[in-house]
Amino acid sequence: MAHARVRLPRASARVVPHGLNDHIFPFPPPGAPPGAITPRIIRQRTVHTYLTHSAVALALLGAACARGSAPATGAAPAAFDPYVPAARVHAPQPTTADITPADLRTRLYIFSDDSMMGREAGTLGNVKGTSYIASEIQKMGLVPAGDDGGYFQTIPLKTRALKDNPTFAVNGAALTPFTDFVPLGPDSFTNPSVPIVFGGTVGDSSQTITDDQAKGKLVVYATNAARMRLRRPGGAMREVPSAAAIAVIALEDIPPQTLAFVKRPREFLDAGASADPAQTPQFIISKAAAARMFDAPLDGLTAGTAGRSAAVDVEYTVTPVADPARNVVGIIPGSDPALKAEYVAIGAHNDHLGDHARPVDHDSLRIWNHIVRPEGADDGRKQATPEQQAQANAELAAFRAKYPHSMRVDSIDNGADDDGSGSVTVLEIAQKIQSMKVKPKRSILFVWHVGEEKGLLGSRWFTDHPTVPRDSIVAQLNMDMVGRGDAGDETGRTKDGTPIHGSPNYLQLVGSRRLSTELGNIVEQVNRDDHHDMQFDYSLDADGHPSNIYCRSDHYEYARYGIPITFFTTGLHSDYHQVTDEPEYIDYPHMAKVGNLVEDIAVHVADLDHRPVVDHPKPDPNGVCRQ
Ligand SMILES: [Zn+2]
Repeated sequence: MAHARVRLPRASARVVPHGLNDHIFPFPPPGAPPGAITPRIIRQRTVHTYLTHSAVALALLGAACARGSAPATGAAPAAFDPYVPAARVHAPQPTTADITPADLRTRLYIFSDDSMMGREAGTLGNVKGTSYIASEIQKMGLVPAGDDGGYFQTIPLKTRALKDNPTFAVNGAALTPFTDFVPLGPDSFTNPSVPIVFGGTVGDSSQTITDDQAKGKLVVYATNAARMRLRRPGGAMREVPSAAAIAVIALEDIPPQTLAFVKRPREFLDAGASADPAQTPQFIISKAAAARMFDAPLDGLTAGTAGRSAAVDVEYTVTPVADPARNVVGIIPGSDPALKAEYVAIGAHNDHLGDHARPVDHDSLRIWNHIVRPEGADDGRKQATPEQQAQANAELAAFRAKYPHSMRVDSIDNGADDDGSGSVTVLEIAQKIQSMKVKPKRSILFVWHVGEEKGLLGSRWFTDHPTVPRDSIVAQLNMDMVGRGDAGDETGRTKDGTPIHGSPNYLQLVGSRRLSTELGNIVEQVNRDDHHDMQFDYSLDADGHPSNIYCRSDHYEYARYGIPITFFTTGLHSDYHQVTDEPEYIDYPHMAKVGNLVEDIAVHVADLDHRPVVDHPKPDPNGVCRQ
C-alpha cells in the first residue's frame, strides 16, 4: 500500500535524547554522534515520489503545517513476542493446485527474500521479483498478455533530478538556493526576466487574481497555516493556468529534512510530451525572499499587486531508471465462446520500497513500533510517551535476555505483507483456476503491478494502456497486504479515530459498492453462501475517512475508468513500511482464507450471465481521487 501523504519528520522527531534509549534505536552509521540516532521510521525515499504532482507545494505545506496529534491508542496491544524462532528461512516445497498456507509460505519466503532487495521499481531486485512471477505463470501455462507477446509490460519510469546551482535573482540580487527558495519542479524553468505579481493567500477565495493578471508572471502566494491541509492544488492555483510560475511563501515552515527530500531525484512516469502537458513550475520561498520581491510590506499586499522582476534558471535532468520497471500480465482464457472476450481482473503490486544505506536493529525497532507506532509508517508522527519508552526498554531488555545472540542488523524493506502477500496470493489463485477442468466463462486477467509504492504508477500505466480492451474488464479485485490482521495488529482506525484490531477471519473491504452495488452484494453472498465466513470490516471505506485507503492502492486506477472494484486487505500493522515487514510474521492460514474467498468471487463474477451493474457515477479518469 502506498503512503497516505507526504510524511515529514518533525524537528522534534529528529534527535533521540542521548542516554535515554540509545540501545533501542537503529544503529548509528559509523562515526555518527549518538545523539543523531534516529528512529528511522519514515521511508524518506518514497516521499519524493509524491512530489511529482503539481500539488507539491500544498502537499508539502499540508504535511508541514498539520497540527494536532494522532488519535490516542485505545486497547492495549496483545501480548507480543517479536521473535519467531527458526522461521527466518524456509525450505521451499512444491506447490499444489489448491490455495494453501504451505504454498503461500513457500512462495512468500522466495518473493520477499533478502535477495529481492526490497523489489523497488526500477531496480534489479524488482526485476528478480517480476521474473519469479513470470516464470511461475509460465509454468502454469497462463497466456502472456504483456508487451510483444510476453508476460511483461514495461512502464516508462524515469528519474528527474535537479541540476546543481539553480539560480533565482530579484532585481539582480541572487537569492540563496534552499535558504531563500526551493524549486519544486517538475520541469526546468528558465526566464531571464519574469514579472512578479501577488496572488493572495492560498485557500482564501475572498481575494484572488484573474488568469489574465497572472499571465506570464511569477505569482506569489501567502499562506495561512490553518488552511494548509490541502493535498492538491487549491482553487487559487487552478485559476491561473497561464501563470509562468508559482511561488508560495512558506519556507520557514518546512523542516530541513523536507528540503533534503526535495533535493533528491524523483521518479515519474514519462507518458510523453503530448500525454503529459507541461505543469506550472512551483517554488517555495522564504518571507525574506518574498519581501525583496515587492516594494510594499508583505502584510499589506492585496491580490494583483505588481512586484519586481526575477531572473530564474532552474534545470532538471531526466534519465530512465536503471532496470526495467515491469507489470506482469497473464490470462486464463474463459470457457464460454462469447463471454471469454470479457475479463475479471485480479491484481496485486509486485514492488516495494527497496533497501537503504542505514541499517537498523531489527528487533528493537519492531518492539518500539509495536508499542509506539501500531500502524507503522501511518503513525510516523507518533513519539513515545515516557511510559511507552519505559515499556519498550523493558521489553527489549527481556528480549535480549531471552535471546542473547539474536542481534540482527536489517536494511531491507522486504515487503512480505506489502505486497508480497497479495502477489503470491494472486499466483495461488492463478494456479487454482488453471487447475479447473472447466474454466470460468469469462477470462481471468492477472496483473501484478509495478510502481504502486511510487504512486500507483504501474496500474495507472496499465489502465491507460491496457493490453486487453479496457471496456472488456468487468471487475477488478485487488489485494494489497492480506497477510496480517490478527488480534495483535492495529489494522486501522474508524473514521472517528477508534483503533481497530484484527481476528482470525478479519478482512477489510474498501470500495466494493462505490461503483456497483451488485459487486458489493456478490462479495457478501459468496462469503456467506460458500461458507468462507470472513468478517468484513467496512470502516475504512467510510466517505471522507482520513486514511483515504480507496485512493491508496491499484484498484483506484481501474475504478477511475468506471470498472467496479473491490479492495481486499487485512489492514495496517506496526511493520507497515518498515524493514520488519518479513515473511516470518505472516499469518499464512489467514492469507489462504483471503485467497480462497477472492478466487471464489472471481469465478462467481466470471460465470455471471451479465456484467456487474454499474449503478453509481463514474469518476473523471483524470480527476483527483476522493474517498
Ligand atoms: Zn506499501
